[in-house]
Amino acid sequence: MAIEDDVVVVGGGLAGMATALSAAREGARVRLLSHKESTLRNASGLVDVLGYAGDGVVANPFDVLPELPNEHPYRRVGEEGVRDGLALFDSVTDYDGGHTDRNALVPTFGGNVKPTARYPAHTAAGLASDLRDTLLVGFETVVDFDAPVAAERLAASGVPFESRGVTLPFPGDFRTDARITRLAHALDENERIEGGRTGRKRAGVTESVPVRTALAERVKPHLDGAERVGFPAILGQDEPDEVRADLDRELGADAFEVPMGPPSLPGMRLETRFHRALRDEGVRTTAGNPVVDFEGDDRIRAVVVERNGARIPFHGEQFVLATGGLVGKGIDSDRGSVREPVFDCHVPAPDDRYDWFEDGAFDDHPFARFGVQVDDELRPLDSTGEPEFENLRAVGGVLGGYDFAAEKSGSGVSLATGVAAGRKANDEVNA
Ligand SMILES: Cc1cc2nc3c(=O)[nH]c(=O)nc-3n(C[C@H](O)[C@H](O)[C@H](O)COP(=O)(O)OP(=O)(O)OC[C@H]3O[C@@H](n4cnc5c(N)ncnc54)[C@H](O)[C@@H]3O)c2cc1C
Repeated sequence: MAIEDDVVVVGGGLAGMATALSAAREGARVRLLSHKESTLRNASGLVDVLGYAGDGVVANPFDVLPELPNEHPYRRVGEEGVRDGLALFDSVTDYDGGHTDRNALVPTFGGNVKPTARYPAHTAAGLASDLRDTLLVGFETVVDFDAPVAAERLAASGVPFESRGVTLPFPGDFRTDARITRLAHALDENERIEGGRTGRKRAGVTESVPVRTALAERVKPHLDGAERVGFPAILGQDEPDEVRADLDRELGADAFEVPMGPPSLPGMRLETRFHRALRDEGVRTTAGNPVVDFEGDDRIRAVVVERNGARIPFHGEQFVLATGGLVGKGIDSDRGSVREPVFDCHVPAPDDRYDWFEDGAFDDHPFARFGVQVDDELRPLDSTGEPEFENLRAVGGVLGGYDFAAEKSGSGVSLATGVAAGRKANDEVNA
């Protein structure tokens, strides 16, 4: 006989993981089905709730929530839902930012300052509200972070501290095309390398030194009074606390990480934390194959995973769609239409494709808000405004009505809608 779960979540990104955790914590038996890696590996690892609205930076997202358009997902869950999403996040991670509702301002690798609600502890010493002079250190082989340019841009943006940048060779004999995960691993293990600045030649033999020490020694001559030092976010994948503590001590200054693009170590660390929490809550995860179909009519009985040509049904009582947006393939489009591929939920879009875009690259493009529309129960709605299915909810990037990239709300929406959907699904199981 097929095993039936209480709640089956389709999609293992932040939204799906938040849904699964919240349902499991309410007592539901939960299955999480996910195909590929989520966008967390490409994202900064910062958790944005609302960074921009209209043309302006948002100081406190909670002040602005009631003014958002009615179709925005935050309007479905309300302020309490946003707070519940953050509370679940805080219970899983050791991020900072929870002491206030106000956004923190975090320097980015491009030298901008980004408003965000939660940031890793490894980023905390870098906040733009901190008055201490700052040295940014880039590495010749980590080309995405040009520290002198970033420091110059930061200074030009009017931050209340001096910022300087320097590009150095990463200590040791690493290949010039070494992946940043390789450099992070060397720092995790504190590998011994030959001939750092402290590597001394004795009787023709070069002494080896731990890489953390060699790195600090290489940076020290450039400190020139700076009390904090920002590195690209590669300071260890598994042992970032240890790496940073050693650098703090050896430098005599606070080391911090500047969030980077893909592959994002902060994003990967976040994913690891959530996976651990899911395991601790007894969520069963099946990864690596896509959900391609479902069984049922107005009420879904099972979703169908395709594995090596076989169709495997996963039965459940409640289902949650968390397959992401255009990037995660939760929303698909061709030249004529926009669709949600798993349940074929309605995705509103103008008939004329030329109305999907504006002219300028940075204009307010309608396609960025494409996604399924939901009711207050978070159930996807058909073209007449009725729920598509009795027992399906949708969360995170697959939702329409908001432009996460422009307003900086990606993780906030995923957490808030995920937690709400997990609870609602569990309530219905017990109804
Ligand atoms: C480049 C980039 C940078 C970002 N930066 C930030 C940031 O700085 N701050 C912030 O707050 N947010 C950021 N975000 C947003 C954030 O990372 C998430 O995209 C957002 O929270 C949505 O998450 P999600 O779980 O809905 O979707 P996703 O992260 O896209 O995850 C969807 C998951 O569903 C799976 N899936 C899809 N289809 C199927 C299927 N048929 N069957 C089974 N599984 C399926 C996918 O494989 C994936 O694992 C960024 C996003 C991107 C793309």
